[in-house]
Amino acid sequence: MSATTEVARHPMKDWVPSTRTLLIGGEMQDPQGETWDVVNPATEEVIATVGGASSAQVDAAVAAARKAFPAWAALSGEQRSAHIHRFADVLEKAADKLLPSIVNEVGTPVSLAEYLQVKMAVDEHLRWAAEAAKVDRTVHLGGYDKPHPTESDVVHQPVGVVAAITGYNYPLNLAIFKFGAALAAGCTVVLLPSPRTPLTTLLLGELIQEAGLPAGVMNVVIGGADVGQQLSSHRGVDRVSFTGSDAVGAKIMEQAARNLTGVTLELGGKSPSIVMPDVDVTKIAVEMHLRWSRNGGQGCAALARLLVHESKYDQFLEAGAAAFDQMVVGDPWDPATNIGPMIRPDHKARVLGFIDEAVQVGGTKLLEVTKPLPEKGYFVNPVLLGDLPHDARAVQEEIFGPVAVVLPFKDTEDAIRLANDTAYGLAANIWCDDPVEARRVAEQVRAGTVWINGGGAMRPDAPFGGYGRSGVGRELGEWGMKEYLEVKHIQWRV
Ligand code: NAD
Repeated sequence: MSATTEVARHPMKDWVPSTRTLLIGGEMQDPQGETWDVVNPATEEVIATVGGASSAQVDAAVAAARKAFPAWAALSGEQRSAHIHRFADVLEKAADKLLPSIVNEVGTPVSLAEYLQVKMAVDEHLRWAAEAAKVDRTVHLGGYDKPHPTESDVVHQPVGVVAAITGYNYPLNLAIFKFGAALAAGCTVVLLPSPRTPLTTLLLGELIQEAGLPAGVMNVVIGGADVGQQLSSHRGVDRVSFTGSDAVGAKIMEQAARNLTGVTLELGGKSPSIVMPDVDVTKIAVEMHLRWSRNGGQGCAALARLLVHESKYDQFLEAGAAAFDQMVVGDPWDPATNIGPMIRPDHKARVLGFIDEAVQVGGTKLLEVTKPLPEKGYFVNPVLLGDLPHDARAVQEEIFGPVAVVLPFKDTEDAIRLANDTAYGLAANIWCDDPVEARRVAEQVRAGTVWINGGGAMRPDAPFGGYGRSGVGRELGEWGMKEYLEVKHIQWRV
């Protein structure tokens, strides 16, 4: 069967959620704020017109979350766990809707989205959070004798109302990373997705109702920067958890600072992948290129800064050509496609601007896809840039598109210096055949996640987050849970 036939046959290819209501205090409410169009980035077609929350509706969502908080926090961990598992059951059953919703609003190729955008989020991360709800985190400190004998416990209590604000590239994952842990901790949530990809989150509102979560425990609003601003500076919000760009992350921190509200910020990166001289580059080059270009390069931890030992540089470029042959840019519904579109024309223009500027300052397109692009859709052909100084903008800044840069290094200390020479520190990878040396380098690289030889899947029990401009705090695992918990010391005389 040809790929085209499969595309034509996909039963949900044109499906988008019809939910346009917000979820506030257990009620589906018509939006009263501004309206805008949602565009499918692969076809440029308007697939929905949505309305955002008015300022009064944002206040109402926060008030509903506050009202629901005491009872939700008072449930046992087992009870909250059961609620979250039930919610995961509903999401699992709705996977056939979540998938097309995400493919059509984000443009992620269906081949990738099925696991990375849906299954992983629900089966692994939300289920893990449901189990984490049951954990008793009380620590008994034992006795302390000055000035008289006492004993102490440290207990953890939910912080309260969480504003969860997400970026566009993984709407379901990013939401689940936040509300999974927040609900498990005993917090209540107001969820705000990116205005560019609101449809999956609106559908989530309906599924929250279906799962029977108590009214107000999870609220869904949509809107632009003004709604994000109102939420992050709201006196009724106890914690802001944000995923997005470092520029907006800095604004969120300022806005939250007005009330001294704590923030968790999951921001961008310019993550390096280091190729040590002992590695057979013919075995890894293809994997490396197919990885940074995943989701059209619209991944926060994309390893798009390739640092290759000078002795292997030429061979690495030669071996990489096969990857560019395997890159299929186009219709996300075609199972053969592995590179979808950029989210909007302005983002496409920004990505192309990086490429043009790199060439103007002396950079070279060392490898690229040159096949004609579809007539419609915000597609960009992948490019590997080289011959750039390390302070070039294309090397230092997050491009968030199918563009990587490669630089040679002289020795390991040079590689570590270059790896650490950006404002970011989200992720890194080290290709190295010597496990002791790989570990030594991993310890030296300033990044929240360091993979050795490609690492593995995103673990729900491991922390994720960044150094420097890549963020504040951590998501996932016990570290992610702690972002939603206050720590209390209880001491008594004995
Ligand atoms: P963005 O920063 O443009 O927008 C993110 C969200 O912020 C949107 O919902 C937007 O409405 C809201 N917003 C905008 N201005 C605001 C303001 N003043 N106050 C409050 N909210 C405001 O990000 P994006 O383009 O949607 O996502 C891409 C970025 O996200 C990239 O930088 C990427 O690296 C990052 N990202 C990070 C992670 C991570 O886990 N570290 C994961 C995915 C994406």
